Amino acid sequence: MSLDSHIERVLWTPDQISHRVAQLAAHITHDFQPVSPPPVVVGVATGAFLFLADLVRQIPLPVSVDFVRAESYGSGTQSNKAPSVSINLKVDVQDKHVILVEDIVDTGCTLSCLIAHLKSKGASSVSVCTLLDKPVRRKVEVELVGEGKFYCGFQCPDYFVVGYGMDFAELYRNLPFVGVLKPEYYKVFDRFIAEEYNEISRAP
Ligand code: 5GP
Ligand code: MG
Ligand code: MG
Repeated sequence: MSLDSHIERVLWTPDQISHRVAQLAAHITHDFQPVSPPPVVVGVATGAFLFLADLVRQIPLPVSVDFVRAESYGSGTQSNKAPSVSINLKVDVQDKHVILVEDIVDTGCTLSCLIAHLKSKGASSVSVCTLLDKPVRRKVEVELVGEGKFYCGFQCPDYFVVGYGMDFAELYRNLPFVGVLKPEYYKVFDRFIAEEYNEISRAP
């Protein structure tokens, strides 16, 4: 059975995503062209892996690339828990401009924690580039560092979305689009998300 049959609704198609990623890459290139040294692009694993890969291939600057891991939902999928962040950067960010690349900003807890860490490591600025943003769910304001900027692909409605790097129970990351699962698939794996996002079942 095809993975596509698990999807209730596609929110952004591969074409829409690639068009927007190209625009974001052009903005970042324009903003960081004059900056020295070139920025460090730090992806938040695992969800940002496809977005980061597509983004950096369209930024023709000598950027370095690294990843950090942040598990805000842990195994219990409680989004309100402080994220457990495992930071093991290879790249030294002292006096560097950092662009954090995220799949989606939800409560803001993960980013705030990562930004605080990068600031403590002496980053001269921290910008954020997120594919999706769900501002209605914000619990912590995302405070950038220095001249940092906030780049956002799309505002996301309050659904639990999957695809283009984003998972549900570690599945669906390989879908080339962003969409919403059929309610029965959320219920199969995880009662918390099925309840928390029960409007999914009312999605048109
Ligand atoms: P925050 O700390 O901002 O609440 O959570 C951010 C992280 O939670 C995201 O980077 C992402 O990994 C996960 N997350 C939040 N909303 C969604 C969603 O709708 N779908 C998926 N797959 N992950 C989400
Ligand atoms: Mg993420
Ligand atoms: Mg996840």
